[in-house]
Amino acid sequence: MDSYGVESFSLDHTKVKAPYVRIAGKYTGVAGDTITKYDLRFTQPNYNAIPTSAMHTLEHLLAVYFREDLDNIIDISPMGCRTGFYLLCFGELSTSKVQDVLIRSLKKVIETQDVPAANERQCGNYRDHSLFGAKAYAMLVLEGFNVL
Ligand SMILES: [Zn+2]
Repeated sequence: MDSYGVESFSLDHTKVKAPYVRIAGKYTGVAGDTITKYDLRFTQPNYNAIPTSAMHTLEHLLAVYFREDLDNIIDISPMGCRTGFYLLCFGELSTSKVQDVLIRSLKKVIETQDVPAANERQCGNYRDHSLFGAKAYAMLVLEGFNVL
């Protein structure tokens, strides 16, 4: 099957076991900066997907919580299949370090009272949030990592 040069198209999604953290790519820019892309898989591909409202809330929360622990983040964004997130950062961190930060961040999700930037000015679809759903999926991932 053609992967069109896209790393995730060459991943056999029937062979992975969620949750997991995986390095999905390493890139070096013309100035020598290195960038690493991580696949943070929350739910089992083609068996369970996170509803958009919960996904959106997790996006807002993880954007804040990952930056509390790491200062080299470029972006953390949802996968269109809604089974996880991509993390991009300068340099390279071990997958176990990224998994530690993910676990710490998901524990903060469970304690969260308000969704940051969930308003018309700071968000493109501020009505589509579910803190309840975000917490439910955070717990599911933490259970999957055997840390809850
Ligand atoms: Zn938003």
